[in-house]
Amino acid sequence: MAGPTLLAVAGWPVAHSCSPQMFAPALAQVGLDWRYLRLPLPPERFAETARALGASGYRGINVTLPHKAAAHDVAQELTPAAAAIGAVNTLTYGPEAIHGDNTDAGGFIDALAADPAGWRCLVLGAGGSARAVVWALREAGAEVAVWNRTAERAAALAADFGVAHATEPDAADLVVNCTSVGLDQTTDPDAAAAAVGLAAVEPPQVLFDLTYGAGETPLARWAARGGGRAIDGAEMLVRQGARSFEGWTGRPAPLDAMRAGLRP
Ligand code: NAP
Repeated sequence: MAGPTLLAVAGWPVAHSCSPQMFAPALAQVGLDWRYLRLPLPPERFAETARALGASGYRGINVTLPHKAAAHDVAQELTPAAAAIGAVNTLTYGPEAIHGDNTDAGGFIDALAADPAGWRCLVLGAGGSARAVVWALREAGAEVAVWNRTAERAAALAADFGVAHATEPDAADLVVNCTSVGLDQTTDPDAAAAAVGLAAVEPPQVLFDLTYGAGETPLARWAARGGGRAIDGAEMLVRQGARSFEGWTGRPAPLDAMRAGLRP
């Protein structure tokens, strides 16, 4: 195949994706002359395009909204995480088959940088990221409860994974925000806590907020009042990307180059 090996992030829209700015310096750092592109794909084009990319010089793609469920259907082999979560964020084009993984789950645990076995964990939200986080925590041996603004969605997610449904959030060792509350960094910490049912709850030892921006997230500021440790979504983005990188290249991911690319 002429030309460099290709990688991409596929989404619709995809112009906002930060992945190219993480992957370009990482590939350069390990001396690979590969290209990492943005691939805008409307939903009706996703499956046929994703199936064809392996014959067009692509080693793999990251998959973002709204294609993670469709990518699960395109994959011919799935990791246990991807199969259980029902969503794929990394496709790898192998000689025999298209391989699908969900590196959000492992990337979340890597970013947590602690073993949550036996911890009481409260997961806020019932969307795609909550599914990955609930599965990852349950697999790691944590005690998991899920709360969501729309209670029926939390109940359904909890039933899917055999964990508890919290109708009222309770104190926990780890609280994970998998809602989009706090994406607007200017939100007042008390207002953010109230929006996710935490107004009357003691801040946890560890607050993991999947959102991130230039500074501390509103929920991180709320948790800091109780002296807890806060982790934001930037480290999870780096770690899920690092897992994709290692699967595609077979080399350890240069984490510092990826972090610097994301937050120059
Ligand atoms: P999603 O599937 O659209 O789910 C959104 C969730 O947020 C739902 O549970 C929704 O509750 C809740 N929500 C939205 N607005 C709310 C409000 N005003 N008050 C209370 N709850 C509200 O989204 P997702 O893909 O799971 O992503 C969720 C967040 O995680 C996003 O901010 C995304 O950027 C971030 N994320 C980060 C990473 C990373 O690597 N750092 C990876 C994935 C996602 P209802 O069900 O009641 O609508």
